Formats: sequence, C-alpha cells, structure tokens
Amino acid sequence: MKILSGLNLEEIENLTSSLGASKFRARQIHNWIYLKSVKDIDEMTDLSKKFRDELKTVAQVSNVKIKVKQVSSDGTIKYLLEYPDGECVETVLMRFDNRANLTACVSSQVGCAVNCSFCATGKRGFIRNLDYKEIIEQVLTIQRDTGLKVTNIVFMGQGEPLLNLDNVLKAMKIFNEDFQIGARRLTLSTSGIIPQINKLAQMDIQSTLALSLHAPNHQIRSQLMQIENKYPMDELHKALINYVNKTGRRITIEYLLIKDLNDTLESAKQLAAYLKDIKCNINLIPYNPTEQNDYQRPSNNSIMKFKYLMENSGKKVTVRLERGADIDAACGQLRGKIK
Ligand code: SAH
Ligand code: SF4
Repeated sequence: MKILSGLNLEEIENLTSSLGASKFRARQIHNWIYLKSVKDIDEMTDLSKKFRDELKTVAQVSNVKIKVKQVSSDGTIKYLLEYPDGECVETVLMRFDNRANLTACVSSQVGCAVNCSFCATGKRGFIRNLDYKEIIEQVLTIQRDTGLKVTNIVFMGQGEPLLNLDNVLKAMKIFNEDFQIGARRLTLSTSGIIPQINKLAQMDIQSTLALSLHAPNHQIRSQLMQIENKYPMDELHKALINYVNKTGRRITIEYLLIKDLNDTLESAKQLAAYLKDIKCNINLIPYNPTEQNDYQRPSNNSIMKFKYLMENSGKKVTVRLERGADIDAACGQLRGKIK
C-alpha cells in the first residue's frame, strides 16, 4: 500500500500514471493531501468514484494514528501519534490570541540522545530518528483533525533536529513547496551541534535558527547540558558568528531561566558579554517543571528583571509564553508516553 502523505507531486504523478490517469489527477490528489488535508480517499470529491476505488486498491492517505488528544485550557492541543512500528511522539498546536498564526511544534526524533538535565524528552534516551514523512505527517494530522491550515512550524518537540538533519531538511522542503508555508515561517531549534550549524551556514535557507544556549558560561552550561563538554560555548560562539556572516540572518538565542541558577545579575552580565557581537534576538524561557529534577521557575519579578537587563545590552528580548502546561505540552515536557 502506498501512503499518499509525504509524496511530492512527481511521486503522485508516477502513481496516477501507473493507474492510467492524467497528471491533472495527480495535482488534484496533491491539493487534497496538503492543502485540504483529507483523512480519506473518498473525500477527494472531484475524482470519479471509479477512480477513487482504483486508487484505494493501491494507496491510502496515512498510516499514523492519533493515540491521545488533549486540549489545554489555553487552546493548545497536544497529540500523541503512533507510527506503524508502535513508537509514539507528540506534536503540539499552539494558537496565540489575536493572531491568525497557527504554530505546530513538531518532533524530529523519538526520544533524544542529548539528555539535557532539565528536559523530560532527554530522560527517555534516544530511540530512533523520524523519517521526513513521519515529520510532515505530524502537521497533516493537525490539519486533518482541526480542519485548519498550519502557518508556522517550529522543530521544538522531541529530539535534536540537527542530529537528524537530512530528514529535517527534506521535511522543510516539503513544508515549503507542498504545504506552501514560507521558509521564514520555519524554525529549527538546536542544542548546539557545531558541525551541523556550520553545514547550515553553507546552505541558502531562509528559515530561522534558534540556539538553546541556556547558560552564561561553560561551568553552568556543562551542569545543565552534557553537550557543552563536546561542543563548548567558546567554539559555539565562533560557529554562530560564522553562521551570521555567511547567511546574513539573525539567530534566536533561547535561554532557559532557572531560579537562582542562571537568572542572577552576574549571569545577565556574562550573557550580554557573550552575545555582544552576535546578531541575535533573545527568547527567555521560564523553566517548566518536569518530574525528573528539582529546578524551579523564577518569580515573574526576576524574569522581568532579567529581561530588562538583557534589553539594556541592546538586544530584542521576548519571554516565551507558556502554552499547554496543564496537559504537559509546554517546552521540555514531552515524553512520548501516556501518563
Ligand atoms: N532539541 C532541540 C529542540 C527541542 S527542545 C533543542 O534543545 O533546542 C525545545 C526547547 O525547549 C529547547 O530550547 C529546550 O531547551 C527547551 N526546554 C527543554 N526542557 C525545558 C523545560 N523543562 N522548561 C522549559 N523549556 C525547556
Ligand atoms: Fe534533547 Fe532538546 Fe531535550 Fe536537550 S532540550 S534533551 S537537546 S530535546
């Protein structure tokens, strides 16, 4: 059985021509999959019943199941999806009030090998990469289930996208060309895999790179993220400068705020010095509690103070709105399991 989700126009054309149908039929099927997000071949109503029946003998729309769907009081929806081999990942749809944007937060791997101390995904260890079709299937599932069209995609679900870069790049190409989501509306978030950042710097992609820095110095970062021992901050600094020089693009620095650990005045000063010559915006992420550790979220007052200090260093600073915490859909809370 061919799975239609994830096929590009040419691949759908090969399929329709094997059934003796025209290229125009392929274009119709393509629209039904990516823009109208049907669940079933029978919903493709501009195809004749006869052709739909033929198509159904060789193809189906999808082979991924929604195992659990949870809706947060703030409107965020979290799906636990199950792939044919039984592995599961989450995907999250966020709506922000007063904006037409619908942002999908997608997973790139089952589990994650990077194992940051603050993240529930990392605690599971690495299970496997998702292939590009499994990545785009997450967005199709959201679109099919809600009947809405996703406008923005962030690779901030489970997994380290730069450790599955080939599949992630293929998925980004499909998001861009088949879903018609502009490259600027796609964001890759990484814990700082230097060789892959260098590789991205050589490519001409218009998407945003977000770096999970989370600490103002080597000592604190290595305490939070083991990856700091492999790819330390001073080398990361060079890679970021190179990235900005090569691409001309501004990067996003993600900075997790943990009470009394990296939210101090001294931390703000060190962070400002580290970022001084890097063209970037800063996104502060107040820590979301997970079961596995005893870090704490700072008070709103200290979050605002830290924001003010970073703004004084001349950067644009935003504080990430917490979405879906009541259903464990917020950053760092994805585990790929039913509670
Ligand atoms: N692996 C990639 C992308 C997925 S994580 C990365 O780490 O960048 C998406 C973001 O959520 C990262 O910035 C991550 O550091 C952050 N995060 C992880 N655990 C968190 C927690 N408990 N509270 C808040 N943010 C968290
Ligand atoms: Fe992996 Fe990102 Fe979680 Fe770190 S924060 S363990 S890199 S998913």
